[in-house]
Amino acid sequence: MLMLENLRKIVQDVDSAPNFTAALDTMVTSVRETMGTEVSSVYLLDDKSNRYILMATEGLNPDAIGTVSLGWNEGLVGLCGAREEPINLDNASAHPKYHYLPETGEEKYNSFLGVPIMHRRKVLGVLVVQQRDKRKFDEAEEAFLVTLSAQLSGVVAHAKAVGSFDVIRTPTPRANVTRVFNGIAGASGIALGRAIVMYPPADIDSVPDRVAEDPDNEIHSLRIALEAVREDIRELDRKMAGSLMPEERALFDAYLRMLDDNALGGEIEERIHAGNWAQGALREVIEKHMQAFAAMDDPYLRERRADVRDLGLRILAHLQKQEGDSLREFPDHSILIGEEITTAMLVETPLEKIAGIVTVEGAANSHMAIVARALGIPTVLGVSELPVTQLDDTEMIVDAYQGRVYVQPSRQLRTRYKDIIKEELQLVAGLDAYRDVPAETPDGHRLALYVNTGLMADVARAKDRGAEGVGLYRSEIPFMLRERFPGEEEQRGIYRQQLEAFAPRPVTMRTLDIGGDKDLPYFPIKEDNPALGWRGIRITLDHPEIFMVQIRAMLKAAIGLDNLQILLPMISSVFEVEEALHLIHRAMMEVQEEEGVPITMPRVGVMVEVPAAVLQIGDMVQLVDFVSVGSNDLTQYMLAVDRNNARVADIYTPYHPAVLRALQMVVDEVHRAGKPVGICGEMAGDPGTALLLMAMGFDSLSMSASNLLKIRKVICNTPYMQARGLLEQVMQVDNAAVIRSLVEFELEDLGLLDLIRPGKK
Ligand code: PEP
Ligand code: MG
Repeated sequence: MLMLENLRKIVQDVDSAPNFTAALDTMVTSVRETMGTEVSSVYLLDDKSNRYILMATEGLNPDAIGTVSLGWNEGLVGLCGAREEPINLDNASAHPKYHYLPETGEEKYNSFLGVPIMHRRKVLGVLVVQQRDKRKFDEAEEAFLVTLSAQLSGVVAHAKAVGSFDVIRTPTPRANVTRVFNGIAGASGIALGRAIVMYPPADIDSVPDRVAEDPDNEIHSLRIALEAVREDIRELDRKMAGSLMPEERALFDAYLRMLDDNALGGEIEERIHAGNWAQGALREVIEKHMQAFAAMDDPYLRERRADVRDLGLRILAHLQKQEGDSLREFPDHSILIGEEITTAMLVETPLEKIAGIVTVEGAANSHMAIVARALGIPTVLGVSELPVTQLDDTEMIVDAYQGRVYVQPSRQLRTRYKDIIKEELQLVAGLDAYRDVPAETPDGHRLALYVNTGLMADVARAKDRGAEGVGLYRSEIPFMLRERFPGEEEQRGIYRQQLEAFAPRPVTMRTLDIGGDKDLPYFPIKEDNPALGWRGIRITLDHPEIFMVQIRAMLKAAIGLDNLQILLPMISSVFEVEEALHLIHRAMMEVQEEEGVPITMPRVGVMVEVPAAVLQIGDMVQLVDFVSVGSNDLTQYMLAVDRNNARVADIYTPYHPAVLRALQMVVDEVHRAGKPVGICGEMAGDPGTALLLMAMGFDSLSMSASNLLKIRKVICNTPYMQARGLLEQVMQVDNAAVIRSLVEFELEDLGLLDLIRPGKK
């Protein structure tokens, strides 16, 4: 059996099926054909009844489809699901778990191979093949079915999530039923509002369906776009006339024919008449044709998919150009949803109108999530099953405490969540008392509480909540708001605002930290493994022209204020610190000479974000004035868990004993050198981890403005000795989940549990 070739073909066929029923039918037909078995069936587990329902079969009685079912632990199908492993038998009826289903006519078949269909550790169903011959399926056949099942599980999970599974069994689709989707909590809070689909320009797959308010107008735009594309193609044809053979140029003719009113153009218009707007109608038609081509056996024709897509993208680009800067209106309480929403996309929206954010990709410590947290916008990420394109303008509730999204919520749900929002507001009002008090424990241990900033909007909120300075100014954020690198004078202006707003309190400006998940639209970096690639200080040391401009702008901005501190991100060797310091000194001399005034050397610090820096911090700290731990990246690199990857989000945890030990090491080493150490990752703003950090001896915690009052309340209400006791206990434990529970028990004991989730006392 040509395993890879067959697998690829089946997966492609299933993916291009027009609906879920057809996908299941394709699945069973292809499996039977490829493996040459007599029976191939799919049983799916229905969550409500907890029974496996026969959903598709080739070989068993087709009347049994949708009617025959087995209990979750019944029969060989149930056994396969319960054990979560393949069951391979030469004589099924001799097995004690065999459960005969007379409606299926399966008594003729002796051998049985079932493999579970698993998605994210959950059993969704069982894929079964059966044979008359009394023979065990061989290892290659078993491996094939297991691999196939793993590849197809995504299709089943998606169909289940969007309700296609229900539609098959209950022929009349249920309207207005609340649908629930799970993801990962990003920025906590609750939001009620309507979805606005966000998608990058020229990404045809994520164009949402949207009701065409004025179909004639949509058709008009479409015709202009089509004509523009025709003109582009004619132009291309003319340009290539000298360098392409006539048969190669025939492709352009083919393109022009495809754009005809009788071809794509006409079909798109039909979709507009059916109610979709031009861009959505275009997506529908292009998707349909791509699927048709993908299903063709002839490899040449299969490759024509690329042409259809190319045309689709060209038309889309013209439609989007017409849409131009007539920016989409954002009503109050908008909930941004999208496959992926980048920081750049977020900060371009009218932030005061944004109530929540939901994305398919991403995890809690992705950069966008951090910015959302700073802005106090409830965010749920990694909602892998969210059918984004179908949800434009749909009512939603975002529960970013639990990482859950409700689509078309019922009245009861809305009432319940409105109550939680009321509770939240009371909680916030209760925190007002902590605005002007120092962060000091009842037994006199004092910490400095700083704020993380990036946007000017953070500044007012931070000052209002008594921040003692800025512990991390993410300088890449203003870079993201522009279409090119800002010049020295422009940067000076931006930095001056931050420095002035907090003077005489310190403002810690981090040098440009791009790369990883923080791309600038005008400086794209494409790498296989960006987290381990060119990012942070590595980029700026390779581009001293960028680094020097930034440092000079910072130094000039601080003239007369003298509250600037410079922080170096992603340091992994002493040499990088030396090089950066060398450039900073050079910039100092230059600015001093140019400005003719004495420049105060700013305090310089290193970020501890990678394990190498933890182990060498004793050497590094000799060169600098202070140290700040970036626990978001440090957790990622200590645990080798991508902070943006939803699939591994549940093992990304700062409560991991290795992370806690690394932090304690850093504090001890830096204190041994007599210098201060702070922390500016998300751990600092979380009530549970903040308790542990205080006990470890961190001198300062820096967090988003949204968390300042909460953390001050935690500190003011927790005796330092009690936190030390907790830390001592925690450091004996080898398991992150247990540590987390111990910390939560302590918060409960202190009466502070409601800071994590309103409603819990
Ligand atoms: C960190 O890594 O903890 C940090 C503060 O930096 P960022 O989240 O911006 O990468
Ligand atoms: Mg970082």
